[in-house]
Amino acid sequence: MKIICKLFWHSWIGCKCSRCGKTRDKNHNWYGCWCARCFKTKDENHNWKDNCEECPRCHKTTGKVHQRRGCKCLNCRKTFHKLNEQCQCIYCGMTIHEIDILKPCKCKICCEENHQYTKAGTEQEKIETDYGEHIWNTIQIYKCTACGKKIKKIPGQGE
Ligand SMILES: [Zn+2]
Ligand SMILES: [Zn+2]
Ligand SMILES: [Zn+2]
Ligand SMILES: [Zn+2]
Ligand SMILES: [Zn+2]
Ligand SMILES: [Zn+2]
Ligand SMILES: [Zn+2]
Repeated sequence: MKIICKLFWHSWIGCKCSRCGKTRDKNHNWYGCWCARCFKTKDENHNWKDNCEECPRCHKTTGKVHQRRGCKCLNCRKTFHKLNEQCQCIYCGMTIHEIDILKPCKCKICCEENHQYTKAGTEQEKIETDYGEHIWNTIQIYKCTACGKKIKKIPGQGE
């Protein structure tokens, strides 16, 4: 305990002292059954919707088992896909990429890029003709709304 906490008072933010880290059983920052500040758990408001067998926050088990139908549980939102290297489930064929919130357009596992292109105006591009002349050509620019990447042409689409 910091000396200032011992002599005077703790600097409580909710259930935790921001100076010495001591916790108290008061003003928790509950997130369902789990306090996001001191990590205490309580036996209520468990997250059975995401997992009907075990609470994903506190790992309390219900004694129930998943009602599996294909790759899904009928009772909760848990899925049981088995993904190959292309992020495709080997059972049901569904494609599920793993996306980093910081890089929303690229899958962390298979590196497939998936941008959300929208038209973002035109640009002048200098091109050289067959006769060696330089002329200006107007091209359409597309920009990804998520990461800002700019391209001249959407891949896979004709001129
Ligand atoms: Zn303290
Ligand atoms: Zn707490
Ligand atoms: Zn729980
Ligand atoms: Zn379930
Ligand atoms: Zn599946
Ligand atoms: Zn992927
Ligand atoms: Zn993008």
